[in-house]
Amino acid sequence: MGERIYNFSPGPATLPLEVLQQAREDIINFDNSGIGICEISHRSKEFMRVAAEAEELMRELLGIPGNYKVLFLQGGASSQFFMVPMNLLGGGKKATYLNTGTWSKKSIKEAQLFGNIEVAFSSENEKFNRVPTDDEYAVSADSEYLYFVSNNTIFGTQFDPIPQSEKMLVSDMSSDILSRNFDVSKFGLIFAGAQKNMGPSGATTVIIRDDLLDRVPENTPTMLKYKTHADKDSMFNTPPTFSIYIIRNVLKWLKNNGGIAAIEKKNKEKAMLIYDVIDAGDYYRGHALKDSRSMMNIAFNLPTAELEAAFIQEAAAKGLNGLKGHRSIGGCRASIYNAFPHEGVVALSRFMLEFQKNNPA
Ligand SMILES: *Cc1c(COP(=O)(O)O)cnc(C)c1O
Repeated sequence: MGERIYNFSPGPATLPLEVLQQAREDIINFDNSGIGICEISHRSKEFMRVAAEAEELMRELLGIPGNYKVLFLQGGASSQFFMVPMNLLGGGKKATYLNTGTWSKKSIKEAQLFGNIEVAFSSENEKFNRVPTDDEYAVSADSEYLYFVSNNTIFGTQFDPIPQSEKMLVSDMSSDILSRNFDVSKFGLIFAGAQKNMGPSGATTVIIRDDLLDRVPENTPTMLKYKTHADKDSMFNTPPTFSIYIIRNVLKWLKNNGGIAAIEKKNKEKAMLIYDVIDAGDYYRGHALKDSRSMMNIAFNLPTAELEAAFIQEAAAKGLNGLKGHRSIGGCRASIYNAFPHEGVVALSRFMLEFQKNNPA
C-alpha cells in the first residue's frame, strides 16, 4: 500500500485513519456475522444496532433534545434545498434567507419554487467575503424561519456566533456540523451532507423538531416527506448503509477524543496556524474578512495567478494535496475538518513560509 498524503480536499474529505482501518476489516466480515458491511441487510440485527448507535452518538455529542428526530437520508445536501421549503412552507408561506455564498444561492432558488422568499442579506457584491451580524438584516413578522449556511465551504466564511432570532433557525451545516458547540433547541431543522465532516458521501443527516413533521402538504411525494422517514426511523426504504456505518465510527472516534468541546479547540488551533501565516505579511491574502473567518475552510490568494498555480503544484509534489480553490473564486483553499491531522496543518504552514521565501512577489 502506498503512503497516505495530506488531503486538503473540501469534500469528500479526510477521515480518521483508525476508522478506515476498521472499515477495511468490516468490509469483508462485519461484527463476526460472516457478511461484509456493504452486503448485510439493513434489517439485520447487526446493522440495526449500527444505525441506532449512530443516532445515539449524534444525540449525545450535539446535545439534541428529545423532541427532535435524527434522520439519515439520501440525495445529498442539495436535495435538502427543496425538501426544506417543500415540507415547511405549504401554501406558499414566507421564509427568510441570508445569501452568503454558492450554497445559500442554490437553496434560495429552490425555496422560491415553494414559498415567498425574502433575502434579508446578501454579500454577493463583496464576493461573499463575509457573513452579516444580527443587526444587518431584518426578518418579517410573518416569516416561518431564518435560513443560513453556517459555514460557507467555498468562500471560507462562517457564522460565529450563530445568528440570534425570535424565529426558528434552519441551517445547512454540511461543512461544520460536529466542529463546535451550538444550541440545537434554537433550530427547527439542521441538515448536513456526510462527506465534509462525518463520513463518505451518500448520507445526509437531518435533525428536525418533531412538531414540524405534520406541516407537509398531503400531495407531497412519500419519499420527500420528512414524516415518512421519521415514522420509520430512516428505514422506510434501504438507507445508505455504508455511509451510516462510517458515520457511526467517526462519531465514536470523536467521542473517544473528547467530544465537541475538545475538537472545537483543536480546530481553532489548526486554523490559526494558517491564518497567522496569512496575517504575518501581505504575500498571502485571506478571502474572508477577519470577523467572518471559517475554522474549516481557509480560502486565500497569492500575489499572482501564476504564483498560485506554482504553489498548488509544488505543494502537491510535497504530499499536500487538494489546495486548489473552487472554480468560482479561484486561488487556494485549505479544508481542515475535524479529522484533518494537526501535523498536516503544520506542514502546510511551513510550506507557505518556504514558498514565499523562494518566490518573492
Ligand atoms: C458540499 C456542500 C453542499 C452540497 O452537498 P451535496 O451533498 O453535494 O449536495 C451543500 N452545502 C454546503 C454548505 C456544502 O459544503
